[in-house]
Amino acid sequence: MKVAKTIKSVRVAIKAARKAGRTIGLIPTMGALHRGHISLIERSGKHGDFVVVSIFVNPTQFGPKEDLAKYPRPLRKDLRICEDHGVDIVFVPDAKEMYRQEELTWVDVDKISEPLCGRFRPGHFRGVATVCVKLFNIVQPDIAYFGQKDAQQLAVIRRMVADLNFPLKIVGCPTVREADGLALSSRNRYLSLQQRKDATCIYSSLKIAREMIEAGRTNSKTIAAKIRKIITATKSLSSIDYISIVDAETLQDVSRVAGRVLIAIAARFGSTRLIDNLTVDCRTR
Ligand code: AMP
Repeated sequence: MKVAKTIKSVRVAIKAARKAGRTIGLIPTMGALHRGHISLIERSGKHGDFVVVSIFVNPTQFGPKEDLAKYPRPLRKDLRICEDHGVDIVFVPDAKEMYRQEELTWVDVDKISEPLCGRFRPGHFRGVATVCVKLFNIVQPDIAYFGQKDAQQLAVIRRMVADLNFPLKIVGCPTVREADGLALSSRNRYLSLQQRKDATCIYSSLKIAREMIEAGRTNSKTIAAKIRKIITATKSLSSIDYISIVDAETLQDVSRVAGRVLIAIAARFGSTRLIDNLTVDCRTR
C-alpha cells in the first residue's frame, strides 16, 4: 500500500495503475475510519478496482463554530485499517497541499444544497462539492463511492457530476449501523454514555416513520410530528435541527408522501450533531 502526501506522487502512482488497465475507485473520507468507511472500501475492492482512499479533514466544509480543530485524526490507525482492507493508495494531503493559494474558484450546487443541513451549515456543501471536484481532478477515478448516511452530500455530488459532465460513476452505499441501529459516525465518539443510549431514538423513530408510510399514512406533518415526539422524549437531546420528509432526488419538502421520499433527521445530543435518514419507495408498495 502506498501512502501519498502530495498531488504529484498520487498522480504518478495512479498513472501506472491506469496504464495497466485498472479501473480506479476513489473513496473520499475525512479519516477516523470505521465500519461505514470500510464498507465503501470493500465495495470498491469487490468491484476489482485499484482502490484509492483519500483522508483529508477539509477545512472549507466546516463553519467557524464547528469542530474542525477537534475532529479526530487517528492517522496511524486509519492507515492500518486501509492496509488490512487491501487499499492500494491512501492519499493524505495536508491543507496546504490541497489549498495552495487563496481559493477563488468554488463549486455551488444550487437548490439541492439549500434545504436540510444546508440551512444549518451555510457554505458546507460548497466546501464539500469543491473538495470533491479537486479530488476527482487529482485522482481521476472511474468510480467514486459515497455513503447514503450523508444522503444530501450524495445527492449534491450526483447532481454536480451530472451537471458538469464528469466521466465518473457515483455509487451510493447503504448506511452501516451499530447493533442498536445508531448509524456509525466519526462523531459518535464524542457522545457520553447517556447521550449514546438516547441517540438510538433517531433510527428507531425513522423506522416508525417508515412503518407509518407503509401502513398508508401520507401526511408529512403527522409523520414528522411522531418522530419529534419520540426524539424529544429522550433526556439528553439538546436540540433538533430538522425533521424533514423530502423528495429523495430534489430534496424539496413534500406535504404528501408519494414516489421516493427521504426521511431525514439532524439532532444534537449535548454538543454533538448527529444525522441519519431512511429512503422509502412508495412506488414498490
Ligand atoms: P466522512 O469521513 O464522514 O466524510 O465520510 C466519508 C464517506 O463515508 C462518506 O461518503 C460517508 O457518507 C461515508 N460514511 C460515513 N458513515 C457511514 C456509515 N455509517 N455507513 C456508510 N457510509 C458511511
